[in-house]
Amino acid sequence: MPAMKELVKGTDRYRQFIGGQWVDSTVKEWIEVENPATGAVIASVPKGGADDADRALVAARAAQPEWEALPPQTRGQMLRDLARLMLENRERLARVVVSEQGKPIQEARGEIEGAALYLTFAAEEARRITGDIIPSDNPDEQIWIQKVAHGVVIGLTAWNYPAGLMCRKLGPALIAGNTIVIKSHEGTPLSAFEIAQLSAQVGFPAGVINVVSGTGEGLGAALVRHPIPRLITLTGSVRAGKEIFRAAADDLKLLRLELGGKAPFVVAEDADIGAAVRAAVASRFENCGQICICNERMYLHRRIADEFLDKFTTAVKALKVGDPQTMVDVGPKVSGIELDKVARMVDEAKAAGAEILTGGRKLTEGEYARGHWYEPTVMTVADNQMRIMQDEVFGPVVPVMTVGDFDEGLRLANESRYGLSAYVFTKDMRRVMRLIRELKFGEIYVNKPGGDVVQAHHAGMRDSGIGGEDGKYGLDAYFQKKTIYVNFA
Ligand code: NAD
Repeated sequence: MPAMKELVKGTDRYRQFIGGQWVDSTVKEWIEVENPATGAVIASVPKGGADDADRALVAARAAQPEWEALPPQTRGQMLRDLARLMLENRERLARVVVSEQGKPIQEARGEIEGAALYLTFAAEEARRITGDIIPSDNPDEQIWIQKVAHGVVIGLTAWNYPAGLMCRKLGPALIAGNTIVIKSHEGTPLSAFEIAQLSAQVGFPAGVINVVSGTGEGLGAALVRHPIPRLITLTGSVRAGKEIFRAAADDLKLLRLELGGKAPFVVAEDADIGAAVRAAVASRFENCGQICICNERMYLHRRIADEFLDKFTTAVKALKVGDPQTMVDVGPKVSGIELDKVARMVDEAKAAGAEILTGGRKLTEGEYARGHWYEPTVMTVADNQMRIMQDEVFGPVVPVMTVGDFDEGLRLANESRYGLSAYVFTKDMRRVMRLIRELKFGEIYVNKPGGDVVQAHHAGMRDSGIGGEDGKYGLDAYFQKKTIYVNFA
């Protein structure tokens, strides 16, 4: 049987993982995978097309009935075994993530641990897949509601957490009895293949997990348009979400769309400034600002604005930017395209009147001569309608506005087409209760840095998506319900 990869002209060339086998794509084209810290090509993967989509989905469909017929606990044991293997290979997988995506190594280790946790959390649900028995209006009759799998699920993932996002979909999809075809972002496809390789060691039946690579408009679109899958779950951009929404309409496919964010970070005059500064830094600069729940815009009460900005800017200047394979705070941007987008947004903001307090440029010299580097940046702005206050930056850049009072902060926070996450620092319990009621965001962090957990629910409002992942509500999306009227008179 062919191996996962072969050496071609000194770099690894991967195959597709379809039906439990490593197979060559029928499209003889490859995508080069680049290390964002160095710009070097580290591997190539197939630029799969419609034929690969078809083969993967047919394999997933063939495997599904037997997979669903297994006791959930048996499915869960395989997920646990995969999680254990991932943790045994934590260092190696983390290094793969750093090489393809550029986050600092300690964050990548955390990503692998988190990815394994998605699988074990799903496995723990095996004994809790319950239905309902409802009284009938008729004598000698019962109404049952059972949860059953959808069938074949497609998982499309973004580049910012290539291993984590894959397992966030894999765990609940599989424990619910679905089979899955995963397509990672074309820039960061390697860790998904490495996890597929570990799944082959666990002994999942062939076709239960399929991992393929290709572009969004090529392979991704072919998967979405194919008649086999019932549920499509995307983590990615609003653009892709809308395209997939349209493409899925013809067959009325079910969708879960986890999209972008533009989280406000509101600091009231009674806040613990030290704690707020630490949280604001962590929630902006982790993963080089490339997290959907990142602190993307700040509103500071005028009474504490100077003190906060002074401490915040000092902390941002102290961040160590450098080789993500070592212990640094901030690594490179993921790609040249992403770097240029951030630089353009900052330049545009400057032209529109933003004042740069620190940063504000690409890093291009010395150790930054190769790769995609941007200086951690803080700017002050006066207009909430500026693009930098309304569009997702997804980089190490934060615009800050001073507000006259708490109400203004709350109002400006809600002035957004995004609705994923929000942060507020205040010690006043009445304000806490008000903002829980009035903030139009799916995930609110009060007096703490960001970080969603596996037992909660991660879901956006408005342009941030439809659906939601994690916890009992996330798992519920991977089931459909069957209602049975049983007359036993
Ligand atoms: P992207 O939309 O470019 O790509 C996401 C995935 O969708 C990739 O696998 C891509 O190949 C595929 N794709 C793109 N267009 C497609 C199409 N028309 N049909 C089928 N597949 C298609 O997103 P990205 O640049 O990888 O990710 C960054 C975005 O993801 C940011 O906006 C970020 O906020 C968001 N994100 C959201 C969450 C969340 O949970 N809400 C988590 C992480 C990232």
